[in-house]
Amino acid sequence: MPILVMKFGGTSVADLDRIRNAAEKVRAEVQRGYDVIVIVSAMAGKTNELVGWVESTGPFFDAREYDAVVSSGENVTAGLMSLTLQEMSVPARSWQGWQVPLLTTSAHGAARIEDIPREHIDQKFAEGMKVAVIAGFQGISPEGRITTLGRGGSDTTAVAFAAAFAAERCDIYTDVDGVYTTDPRITHKARRLERIAFEEMLELASLGAKVLQTRSVELAMRYKVRLRVLSSFEETDETSGTLVCDEEEIMESNVVSGVAYSRDEAKMTLVTVEDRPGIAAAIFGPLADAGVNVDMIVQNISEKDYEGHSGAVTDMTFSCPMNQVATARRAVEEARNAGRIQYDDLVVDTEVAKVSVVGIGMRSHAGVAARMFAALRDENINIKVISTSEIKISVLIDRKYMELAVQALHDAFELEKSA
Ligand code: ADP
Ligand code: ASP
Ligand code: MG
Repeated sequence: MPILVMKFGGTSVADLDRIRNAAEKVRAEVQRGYDVIVIVSAMAGKTNELVGWVESTGPFFDAREYDAVVSSGENVTAGLMSLTLQEMSVPARSWQGWQVPLLTTSAHGAARIEDIPREHIDQKFAEGMKVAVIAGFQGISPEGRITTLGRGGSDTTAVAFAAAFAAERCDIYTDVDGVYTTDPRITHKARRLERIAFEEMLELASLGAKVLQTRSVELAMRYKVRLRVLSSFEETDETSGTLVCDEEEIMESNVVSGVAYSRDEAKMTLVTVEDRPGIAAAIFGPLADAGVNVDMIVQNISEKDYEGHSGAVTDMTFSCPMNQVATARRAVEEARNAGRIQYDDLVVDTEVAKVSVVGIGMRSHAGVAARMFAALRDENINIKVISTSEIKISVLIDRKYMELAVQALHDAFELEKSA
């Protein structure tokens, strides 16, 4: 039997009615002749609640116990989905990650999938089971502890199962009917894309578009999984939603295909550090050792000596996720106390956001950056940090202008119109 993977996100399994609605979609695919692997998220809001409970136990919690608690929301929905399917006379059973077993690294809270042995589930399909319901987001470490794959990780569970079982397609059912030119919650002008290239989706996801977890896109690209995003609240068929596919499968596209944003950014500046060989290594080494995800970096070129300093000095600015500011501060201060770096001041700005434009068309079109900067200027939005790569340009701005910036860029690149 051909295998299909269907993943239902939190809003799609938020209560028993929605689980029934999702189960009906699964039954329709079984009736079409598929063996189905269903991946479920926790009910909407559940994981946040569990994270909140863990955090209230104290600031320095055991990451293994965090995973034990936070993974539990998916256990409930997996069982309920299986029960609902059984009630519809569809032979189904549920698996928690460790039962499969979905083998991961031991990086608790952000584990990576290492392997998914098929035997157990294949055997059940051979015995007549039609649907394997898998609790998303969770696995088991080599030490035998429960792990989780990072927020949004059920997408990655789904793609990994699709790869391991050579599924015909991996359908991600969510609360929007596809991938849009930007988050449809920010502007009603956002337009659904019929197709998007893996590379673009990868950038959009890693720059903040949470419709797919970044790692799921990476896996889909590597294992050539046919990945589709579609709505669980609408009637759908083979042509619904957005297909994430190879660039070659897309006939026409705009120079910029999407705008992404990330709200929870912080900017830190070390004021007047020495400008000498090795200074960047002395700053970013300790930050890396402390596990800080440094994103954008700017170092000003120092053309003159400053008063009170014997040699050339410069400012070093970097951005990192807001929840890592305390860790970053501690790492930098420890390096200073140990005499490895010197600076006059450490300035932290936690009121910033990152806005990015993404498109493979940028490889062959000049002027995208200029157009982006002009659009922000026209809204009087000041750019604090800029970074670019082959197919994206990101800017750090004041958080209060984030939505305005996304709307302005969406207009400037005429994303409401298709190519
Ligand atoms: P699920 O619970 O189904 O995994 P998520 O909340 O993780 O759903 O992801 C879906 C949400 O992603 C949408 O409701 C939408 O607000 C947001 N989103 C952000 N950027 C985009 C985009 N470019 N296209 C579609 N949705 C986006
Ligand atoms: N429930 C988890 C989360 O909210 C995983 C997921 O839904 O993908 O992050
Ligand atoms: Mg999600």
